[in-house]
Amino acid sequence: MIGLFAWSPWVQPSESEWLSRYEAWSDGVAASLDGGLTVSRVTCETTFDDEVGNPPKERLQRLSDTARRGCAALSRGGWRASEEGVVRSLMAAHDDLLPPRQRRDLATIAHSSVGMQPTVYCWRPDAWAAFSEQYAIVRGGEEASLKGIADTSRRRIDLDPGVCAALGRYLQRKRPSPLTYQNFELAEALSVLSHEAEHLKAPSASEAATECYAVQHVRPLVHEAWGASFAHEIALHAWELSYLRLPPQFRSDGCRNGGRLDRNPSVNAWP
Ligand SMILES: [Zn+2]
Repeated sequence: MIGLFAWSPWVQPSESEWLSRYEAWSDGVAASLDGGLTVSRVTCETTFDDEVGNPPKERLQRLSDTARRGCAALSRGGWRASEEGVVRSLMAAHDDLLPPRQRRDLATIAHSSVGMQPTVYCWRPDAWAAFSEQYAIVRGGEEASLKGIADTSRRRIDLDPGVCAALGRYLQRKRPSPLTYQNFELAEALSVLSHEAEHLKAPSASEAATECYAVQHVRPLVHEAWGASFAHEIALHAWELSYLRLPPQFRSDGCRNGGRLDRNPSVNAWP
């Protein structure tokens, strides 16, 4: 008996498959550079062509070009910059159809907490869902669920639409109704925006330090709107429901009352 197989040497990959190939290739190069190995430009480009190849869709062409161009800057810093360029290209591939809206009003919150004046963009739900799914592939599942992104070179923050909605209610001083999910949404939204703004302020700070500073902005922001006792409640939500459930790389032993990352060591309130 002879089995008959249809053999197709080249099946066009889906966007997700192609992005996974890119991620594996990029990780490999990054690991070599981190390990102190020298990678030649030719090897880098040849492996890109063999292992990643042309993108399945025209809209990923710019991302593909950006990624391959990274082979011209083969240092650890150069590679990181190239990976950031890839994320920027991915955003550009997604923000054409449903462009995100600039929100100057939300930028004022980052200004009053962190002291930064970023450009803030809010995405439409469909576009954000599609973008964040592909972002997770490109970054190897780095952030469990993407709520916001900071681009330090453009001083720009892009936000999940749910985060934007909660920040909008905060600005309008629409207090969350008691015992609803809105309490948690407010806590989360204020810490997400503060987290991204902290990235712009201190681009080389670790995720753990950035997140620890961010969670400490929740109390003063809520205090400004609704006073001390509600601020205490929401700060605890930010701590218990958000901070303590983050992956380990976002947390630190120094992030505690009187710890290394306590912004107000003389004050006995935490966070
Ligand atoms: Zn971060």
